[in-house]
Amino acid sequence: RAKKHLGQHFLTDQNIARNIVDSLSFEGYKKVLEVGPGMGVLTKFLLEKDSEIYVAEIDNESIDYLKKHYPKLEEQHFVGDFLKTDISTVFGEELAVIGNFPYNISSQILFKIIDNFQFIPEMSGMFQKEVAERTAGKPRTKDYGILSVLVQAYYDVEYLFTVHENVFNPPPKVKSGVIRMTRNLKEGLAGNEVLFKQIVKAGFGQRRKKMSNALKVLGIPENMKSHPFLDIRAEELSVADFIAFANKWKSGLELP
Ligand code: SAM
Repeated sequence: RAKKHLGQHFLTDQNIARNIVDSLSFEGYKKVLEVGPGMGVLTKFLLEKDSEIYVAEIDNESIDYLKKHYPKLEEQHFVGDFLKTDISTVFGEELAVIGNFPYNISSQILFKIIDNFQFIPEMSGMFQKEVAERTAGKPRTKDYGILSVLVQAYYDVEYLFTVHENVFNPPPKVKSGVIRMTRNLKEGLAGNEVLFKQIVKAGFGQRRKKMSNALKVLGIPENMKSHPFLDIRAEELSVADFIAFANKWKSGLELP
């Protein structure tokens, strides 16, 4: 029986499961970590690939089921709660992440992936449609916001396809969307992540306002006061604009 507090909705459509698995390239890494395998609808197709398959699952009933039905999954490849898994210690090398993710922790999963971008060159998976759209959002659209800019600073994001409620058991309340993320670290962000995140969050925190107003809370440094981006709203700035802006800002904070 599905457990609601664990975000359990089991996919019943085999073709969709296969398409999600096939959206990974399986190139440049040996290991693949599936988050929330449940009853193994994706795992089954993953195990047909020539990769080492790891699974992060917190539900004991699902874990027992997987061990029984998928003997190919190695005992030591069960890693437990994804949010508590220390990617660098457990894996120590590059791996792809895949999953029909538990929707109650979607943003935490995405933030965990970008925090570990050094280890994760690729991610394919399903979120509630709205989160998938926001992650893939482009400037000057309603979907563009904090999630779009923070994720796209590290990954190119493609919205692959929409999945209807009725192919799950039990059906979720909302539609789902599958995205693929391919690492593509934009130049120049390294070392300035903290300030970059603060600027993005403050900028979109007051979406309707110009950046000059939205960023007042951060205390705009002297060298930025006549910056042209201050005169427009966050949703008009590209990811590269945000990075350049944050780097310029930082130079004004450093002692001469
Ligand atoms: N992959 C299966 C499928 O497509 O049918 C199940 C998907 S279901 C939407 C999400 C799964 O994530 C559930 O099996 C749930 O137990 C598991 N889960 C929830 N929180 C988790 C966490 N923090 N770490 C790992 N798995 C989690």
